[in-house]
This record gives sequence, structure tokens and C-alpha cells, in this order.
Amino acid sequence: MMPLSRLHEEQALSAEARAELSLRQTEASRLSPGSVQIDALWKVLKDTSTRAELVSALRALSHDKCAYCECVDPRDIEHFYPKNRYPERMFLWVNLLFVCKTCNLDKGRRFPLEGTQALLIEPSAEDPARFFWWDPVTGRPLLDSEPTRRRRAAETIKILPRLKHQDLAEERRKLRSDVLFLLTEVLQEVPRPPDVVARLATELSPTQPRRSVLRQLVSEEPALIAAVRARAPELAPLLDALPPMPLRPTAPPSPAPPRCEPSPDEPLPPR
Ligand SMILES: [Zn+2]
Repeated sequence: MMPLSRLHEEQALSAEARAELSLRQTEASRLSPGSVQIDALWKVLKDTSTRAELVSALRALSHDKCAYCECVDPRDIEHFYPKNRYPERMFLWVNLLFVCKTCNLDKGRRFPLEGTQALLIEPSAEDPARFFWWDPVTGRPLLDSEPTRRRRAAETIKILPRLKHQDLAEERRKLRSDVLFLLTEVLQEVPRPPDVVARLATELSPTQPRRSVLRQLVSEEPALIAAVRARAPELAPLLDALPPMPLRPTAPPSPAPPRCEPSPDEPLPPR
């Protein structure tokens, strides 16, 4: 998941589309949660210019990728607060994302709350990297250690299991490794082959699937990135477009306790 910069509704949608959404929202707000009329009311938008505008604005929001798993085949408008439970949010611009079929089906109506706080992470409202990021070796999710954030990360991955799918983890691992190789090539080749920079420009493009792993790579390798910027300034706009990772508090190192007994998971040493 990447953090998404959502434009204000006035910038994202025409006055006509906003007026229609507002009208439909007034109708939806009269419906009770679970009403059989909710799906029918949503279908009113089908084949309208308002829906086409919404899809286009939501595609732009997540750079033509699924807002959750970053795949390049998003198809569905997603109601972050599910429309069947929250008809009062059904046509609100801030409640909508564009996602792939798999994530939409996986989420379904699953939307756990803790008090009034949604446990699922909304990538246009919160930076997902405050909650989880990727293991550079395996590409699998690593969860923040702070208990509340860890719980929300775990729930998000439970609701969207595609995030921990082995194929996606392998894609992330490979993308990270390929881009790291290209970044070092930019520095080593003299004269620099032009296709290295062109390949990097493609890999760093905002439409690149699983780009969150590159965001992490760029944050983790500041010296390498500074050298690449100096050598290939044409890549700077693409590197600047990757938002820095949030700083995570690191626990001070504590002295290891004296080891007397093996932990329960540890095999006993051979006698
Ligand atoms: Zn998805």
C-alpha cells in the first residue's frame, strides 16, 4: 500500500458530478443500514457521466492501480465504509477508492471497528507505512511493534490477505533487487549506458505495481540515492515523488538477559 494524496472534491470532480453525488447522498442518507434499496440506489450511477468521472478521478488517485494491493488491474469502486452498513457515506468522495476485484471480494463487508476507529487502514487518510512495511529479503509484510498499530496492520492484512500472498511478496523482493542493481549500475558504468537510466525511469514510475517497496528502498539507502541523484539528475523528479518513510521510534538496545534455559521454541542442544 502507498499513501495516496486525495485531491479536494472541488478539484477532482466537476460541479455537475458533485451535484449528482450530493443528490444521491441525500437519498441514501434516508435509507437504513442493510436496506435492500442500497444496492439499487448505487446502480443508478451505472453508465452515467458522473460514474465515468468518479472512476477517472479515483484511477488518478491511486495511479491506475489497486489502492490496496498496488496491482495494475483495478476494476471496482470501493466503499471504504461499506455502503450496506453506512449508507450515509455511500456517495461521499472521501469514502471511495478504486481497487482490484480480488481486494474488493476479499474485503466484502468486513469492516471491524475498535470503538469508532476503523481497523482497516485507509491509504488516502493514513500512511500505511506507519503500520506495516516489507521485509527486504522476503517481500513479506513486517508489522509495527506498537500494539495499536500492530493490531491495525494485522487486521488490514487479515481483511486483505492478498497483501501477504507469496506471489506478491516475490514480486516485491524481485523489484527491490532489480532496482537496487540498476541504481548501483548508474554509479559504476563509465560511460553510463543510457538504457540503465531509462529502465530505472520505468521502474520508478508512479504506475509501477508494488511501488511501496521502492519507496522503502529509497528511504533505506540515502547515500546511494544521493549519489544517483548527482549522477543522473533526470531521475530526481521520480525519486522525489516517493514520499519518505515515516520515522519509527526505535527501542533503545537492552542488555540481553543471561541465558540459562532455552526458550520453549528452541531445540535442546545435543548432549
Ligand atoms: Zn487489490
